[in-house]
Amino acid sequence: MNRFALANARTIIDAAGAASTTVAHAMTVAPDAVGRDDAAVVKAGGIDVLDLMKEGLLAPAKLVNLREVPGLDEILEEDGGVRIGPMVTLAALADHPLLSQRYAMLGEVLRASASPQIRNVATLGGNLLQRPRCWYFRSHAYHCLRKGGGHCFAITGENQYHAIFNNMPCAIVHPSTVATALVALDATVELTDPAGATRRLAIEEFFVPVERDLQRENDLRPQEILTAIRLPKLPPSLRMAHVRQGEKDSFDWPLADVAAVLDIDGSGVCNRAAIILGAAAPVPYRAKTAEAALTGKRIDENAAALAARTALDGATPLSKNAYKLPLFEALVRRAILKAVA
Ligand SMILES: Cc1cc2nc3c(=O)[nH]c(=O)nc-3n(C[C@H](O)[C@H](O)[C@H](O)COP(=O)(O)OP(=O)(O)OC[C@H]3O[C@@H](n4cnc5c(N)ncnc54)[C@H](O)[C@@H]3O)c2cc1C
Ligand code: SF4
Repeated sequence: MNRFALANARTIIDAAGAASTTVAHAMTVAPDAVGRDDAAVVKAGGIDVLDLMKEGLLAPAKLVNLREVPGLDEILEEDGGVRIGPMVTLAALADHPLLSQRYAMLGEVLRASASPQIRNVATLGGNLLQRPRCWYFRSHAYHCLRKGGGHCFAITGENQYHAIFNNMPCAIVHPSTVATALVALDATVELTDPAGATRRLAIEEFFVPVERDLQRENDLRPQEILTAIRLPKLPPSLRMAHVRQGEKDSFDWPLADVAAVLDIDGSGVCNRAAIILGAAAPVPYRAKTAEAALTGKRIDENAAALAARTALDGATPLSKNAYKLPLFEALVRRAILKAVA
């Protein structure tokens, strides 16, 4: 790991002004951490940033620590919804009463992510902005497309944990499990620049698909700070569930996960559905055909099974990840039935 300076920002403006660039940009400019530049990047809990530095993939001159910026770790009620500061830890969020009352699915996702020790340190902002888990990407030895190289090693290589949708020319899966649920819940993000100007966008738009830019997973711009994640007020008619399957119950990312949010009217008919697949594509994947298959239907075993089959429409599995097709079909069916149970 390189030597670096640590700057404790005291305000959001300080932090935005001090952070010269994003981690994604710093890694593309110096993909193997050779040619160390003068990059100053943001650190929240530090789990992912320090991992990248220990692997020699990132060598910033300065880390801008957000821990002492007041207000970034607050959870507040706002317009019937909830405003979550990016420095709220996964553990604090999972245990917060506003969340368990209104967005129970999110608590389940959080409690199943990583491990208790990691959840005590890892923040929501850092979780959403963590870099992909692709092992070629994480290895110093492979200068792949996402790091500015000329080749994807996964497409013809070890791709068992990779994407089954939109997987050319880079087949990462989006690393954040929390993001699967936040997209299904129509969350929005707020970003603040050094002049204090903010922009807000739907979290689904914040994540950047491969065809738009290969070298970053989100639309965070240099010198921007993620300052809030908002969950909207939900009608009482919403039903929701998240299911995941991994190789291990804890301390690992899932092989596949699904969030289902269904708006069910008084007669049991689904008026609107969000079916989001995690660990399926470079961004959380909206299964539009499954959503359409559920809309206007009474939700029972048959409707769930049909939607689950259509959810896989358009999948293009790679040489070693076709096992994800039946896995996702089972998880989509289970998520729908769990939501309405
Ligand atoms: C063994 C293990 C298992 C895991 N399992 C899961 C899992 O099942 N599901 C899952 O989703 N995750 C999982 N994780 C990932 C973990 O949750 C993330 O690494 C962690 O949440 C990152 O948060 P952090 O606060 O430490 O971020 P940091 O490492 O501090 O930052 C991460 C990135 O976010 C940027 N950043 C952070 N906050 C801001 C901000 N406010 N504004 C601008 N930029 C910012 C940083 O510059 C950096 O690029 C696992 C991790 C480990 C080690
Ligand atoms: S899947 Fe993406 S990150 Fe992994 S080797 Fe291919 S280009 Fe690199």
